[in-house]
Amino acid sequence: MKYDHKLSSKVLAHLSQVVGDRLSTKKVDLLTYSRDYWPITLHWMLKGKLPALPDAVVWPENKEEVEEIVKIAHETSIPIYAYGGGSGVLGGTIPEKGGIIVDLKRMRSIKLHEEDLLVEVEAGTNGYYLEKYLNKKGYTLGHFPQSLYPSTVGGWIATKATGQFSTKYGGIEDMVLGLDVVLPWGESIELKPHPRSATGPDLKGIFIGSEGTLGIVTKAWLKIWPYPEKRVNLSFASENLNDALDSVRRILRRGAKPAVVRIYDTIETKRHFYNFEKAYGKVATVMILEGDTRTVEAEEKIVGEEFKGTPIGEGPVDHWLKTRFNVKEASEFAPLGVVFDTIEVSINWSKATQLYNEVSKAMRSVKGTLFASAHASHFYPQGVCFYFTFAGVPKGDPTEYYNKVWDATMRATLNVGGAISHHHGIGRQRREWLQEELGNAFEVLRRIKDALDEKRIMNPGNMGV
Ligand SMILES: Cc1cc2nc3c(=O)[nH]c(=O)nc-3n(C[C@H](O)[C@H](O)[C@H](O)COP(=O)(O)OP(=O)(O)OC[C@H]3O[C@@H](n4cnc5c(N)ncnc54)[C@H](O)[C@@H]3O)c2cc1C
Repeated sequence: MKYDHKLSSKVLAHLSQVVGDRLSTKKVDLLTYSRDYWPITLHWMLKGKLPALPDAVVWPENKEEVEEIVKIAHETSIPIYAYGGGSGVLGGTIPEKGGIIVDLKRMRSIKLHEEDLLVEVEAGTNGYYLEKYLNKKGYTLGHFPQSLYPSTVGGWIATKATGQFSTKYGGIEDMVLGLDVVLPWGESIELKPHPRSATGPDLKGIFIGSEGTLGIVTKAWLKIWPYPEKRVNLSFASENLNDALDSVRRILRRGAKPAVVRIYDTIETKRHFYNFEKAYGKVATVMILEGDTRTVEAEEKIVGEEFKGTPIGEGPVDHWLKTRFNVKEASEFAPLGVVFDTIEVSINWSKATQLYNEVSKAMRSVKGTLFASAHASHFYPQGVCFYFTFAGVPKGDPTEYYNKVWDATMRATLNVGGAISHHHGIGRQRREWLQEELGNAFEVLRRIKDALDEKRIMNPGNMGV
């Protein structure tokens, strides 16, 4: 393949003044950064089609370098894409308009503030590395996305991620207390980590979930917790999904906060827990309670009083703990011609079962679908996140089939009144539906984009803004 980058020698010289040899226009690097984990792009690549190519990749080592890179991009109107671990699943880092990829992984310093229960961490820090660092010091962040190993702090903040233990610890938005952000013209701001402040609207909220379209996050102050003193692993088999969902709803109403709750529909129960006879034909729930011993004991009592289902021991939890960071499923299916993806949405309790039924039906209605299933993985006193999985072997174009399933799912979710994303974000795959979900509030987002990034250099096209 022939490829010539489009950056002038003047721009390249200017960039290398900032980052030295941490700049590349080599084909191998441009190819590496041409996609993220968006599953359909693997099908494209197997057919020799690239999603897009950047013109250069840079690896800054500090905030000042990021500022200078962004200033160069701003002066020359060259698109710029913040890149963390590249584990996003919706095409968020795809350089669709060419330009410069800014990979932040060399920015990974960590500073612990024990008395304030805070960690000050640079945006490129790897998730697993951060958690291990905290564990050694006697703390946890409580943030465990399945992609803990391949993702970064900046990526979590930019996509508004949640982890598997979110029912107790919350999503990343509940953990971020302070932020450093480089704005689209190269100036940086520091939003300080006060425990709370009434100093106007919360400006952090503009950047959390902005997916690289409004600025580059270079540092965050995150809340941490003492490493849990006690952990209790529980699992149940319920007669149906409703019983399990209703149990968790009532547990949360009473103020108990299990760290992990995962309710698998009958299809996923069969898929994941085939070794556990008591779960056959049932709906399996795995649950982990953790924290201060007394609190956990009280929570265990509440769970015992409320759960409609038969306790089936620690086995299913152990099994889940062993397999929970497996991230290779999607890439194994593509070479076999199977189109596979997961779609997470959220809904209030009053419409939870309706959403599960409607979305499952919508996915199955698309010709070529082999199976559609779900588990509920993040819970709130007000509602729940369903994580749907589908796989299909379409007769024709895989992308056409893929888009049909996505369309059916988004439409069903909007019809029932759910949120079209719970934690993966919008990226390039979901952008056409964001406007519909937000209604005229989308205009607010667009105007913020206009005001902050008038030259539209920050990840242009992402999120549809
Ligand atoms: C198998 C698998 C499992 C997953 N499980 C989960 C899960 O449990 N929970 C969950 O929430 N997500 C999950 N994800 C999705 C993904 O890992 C998250 O979205 C993660 O937060 C992305 O982080 P990253 O560092 O890889 O970001 P990237 O993929 O590198 O970037 C994602 C987006 O953020 C922007 N961005 C990255 N860094 C910055 C920065 N410093 N400043 C501004 N913008 C930035 C990019 O431009 C892009 O738009 C999973 C993905 C896979 C492949």
